[in-house]
Amino acid sequence: MTARILVVDDVPANVKLLEARLLAEYFDVLTAEDGYKALAICEGTHVDLILLDIMMPGIDGFEVCQRLKSNARTAHIPVVMVTALDQPSDRVRGLKAGADDFLTKPVNDTQLIARVRSLVRLKSLSDELRIRADTAQNLGMEDVSRGLDGREESAQILLVDGRASSQERIIKALKSIGEVTAISDPQAALFEAAENAWDMVIVNANFEDYDPLRLCSQLRSLERTRFLPILLAAEVGAEDMVVRALDLGINDYILRPVDPNELLARALTQIKRKRYNDRLRMSVRQTIELAVTDPLTGLHNRRYLDNHLKMLFDRSAARGRPLSACIVDIDRFKSVNDDFGHDAGDEVLKEFAKRIRATVRGADLACRFGGEEFVVVMPDTDSETAGVIAERLRAMVESTPFVVKSTGTRLEMTASFGLSCSAEGAETPAQLLKQADLALYRAKAEGRNRVVANAA
Ligand code: GH3
Ligand code: MG
Ligand code: MG
Repeated sequence: MTARILVVDDVPANVKLLEARLLAEYFDVLTAEDGYKALAICEGTHVDLILLDIMMPGIDGFEVCQRLKSNARTAHIPVVMVTALDQPSDRVRGLKAGADDFLTKPVNDTQLIARVRSLVRLKSLSDELRIRADTAQNLGMEDVSRGLDGREESAQILLVDGRASSQERIIKALKSIGEVTAISDPQAALFEAAENAWDMVIVNANFEDYDPLRLCSQLRSLERTRFLPILLAAEVGAEDMVVRALDLGINDYILRPVDPNELLARALTQIKRKRYNDRLRMSVRQTIELAVTDPLTGLHNRRYLDNHLKMLFDRSAARGRPLSACIVDIDRFKSVNDDFGHDAGDEVLKEFAKRIRATVRGADLACRFGGEEFVVVMPDTDSETAGVIAERLRAMVESTPFVVKSTGTRLEMTASFGLSCSAEGAETPAQLLKQADLALYRAKAEGRNRVVANAA
């Protein structure tokens, strides 16, 4: 899908110029001639990026940006201010209003397209995360947009800089937001970036004989640093390098001489965004976990078993190793509910799950199959060993009563076990489970409270 860019400028000729350039790169372009129209468009339709003029009648670009960024529905849209002003103080004012970057009129074509592409790419990544995190929120998870001022905790910033004097200046500029660790050797810095948890890395392109883009590209390709924000400091005149760096996936850049306030504002923006994305990612992970976890016992659920068993089965087959499955069903469980209430039944199920967890190894897969039935899948385990493990669990259930906390009632419980093993003829995961189920059926029929292995 092509990205939709909104161009806002009160001078029609400026709008036309930017529009033509963007259309030539196949972007979808919307235009607005003042701030109010721009805000209305962003409220009403999907916009991927805004090119915003600063000096406009009515409300100016700073104000428009501020309003966009304080509205949850539009806060995530990247804003590039396009301005004739080129004073560091205006840049800082714009960054504080939430702008993501600046382009100076007359706008350089290559820079325009590089910046737009880079911001659109970064946005589509967080859009995807946001969609998934919204689902998480709908499922009653924590609100990911809470507490996002970027100053919540001290930031850890890695500075890669070949010169001691500029290291000092940068450390000083950022000391109010966190701790800056300076390294002058780029390769050592790459290692450091991957080893520890950082909120961002600043690469100052001032090395004697090292191409800073090499470090940027390595940081982007390592799994551990793939999402780490990179801010590049480059010399005025090195715009070509900046364009290539943006294509490599750096998040932002600043031109030297570095204005301390601008650096601070840019660093804060990156850190804030990283923390937001980290939170989204975490929430997505929690959603996935939620979908495969049984809420009562905390064990995996049947959906997880269905997907994971196949993987374990295929792996065992490929390695020629046995895989055992055990289905456990609590005996006469219905009477717990009938005699002591459903809550007491739930407590027994929780305690039962706890005992299963205490019995199995880390590599085993324990899940609640449904109701009062559980399945344990044991990789690298032959039927004899599986029998020993099942017998241990059976004895543990029988020997220690289950205590209902609310009433103090002690319940003597037993359970029945059906075992099967891939070494004994099961050709598919479904067959493996089927055989264990047949064995369980026999355990019940033969009087319960016992372990029965599938007879091949
Ligand atoms: P058997 O020895 O033959 O297995 O007898 P049983 O009573 O254990 O088996 P049955 O399948 O007849 O009953 C299972 C009961 O488990 C019925 C159902 O109400 C109860 N049950 C299923 N899920 C839950 C749950 O989440 N909480 C509670 N408290 N009870 C549950
Ligand atoms: Mg039962
Ligand atoms: Mg049952």
